[in-house]
Amino acid sequence: MEAQLPNADPAVLSRWVKALLEDRRGRNAIVLGQTRRLIHARERLRQATEYLDALLLKAQNEAQALWPDKLPCPHCGAPTSLVRAEQRAEGHTIVHDHPNGSRCEGGQQSIGGGSPRPRPGDR
Ligand SMILES: [Zn+2]
Repeated sequence: MEAQLPNADPAVLSRWVKALLEDRRGRNAIVLGQTRRLIHARERLRQATEYLDALLLKAQNEAQALWPDKLPCPHCGAPTSLVRAEQRAEGHTIVHDHPNGSRCEGGQQSIGGGSPRPRPGDR
């Protein structure tokens, strides 16, 4: 380096190298701080997700307790009154009938009937 800069003052060069290193240290501190804040935010988000999921699971269990002997529908989650296979031109499809008259099949929810969520009085 000194061979390429024969007229450079070693003291000036030393000052510039120190300034560059100081600048780099400052930038690294910013990135490290961002990394720590991201890790903290992700951890808090994970905790919040677990908390909310537990709340929803509790509500789901309370709702399903009204139909203790019914299988929950894999498509909409409502209790099923009947699970059956229907023959179609393209082959068999599994149909979940709900107490309120609606039904789910394949990836589709609530064909016919009212809301896929029956009220507690429906059986
Ligand atoms: Zn359903």
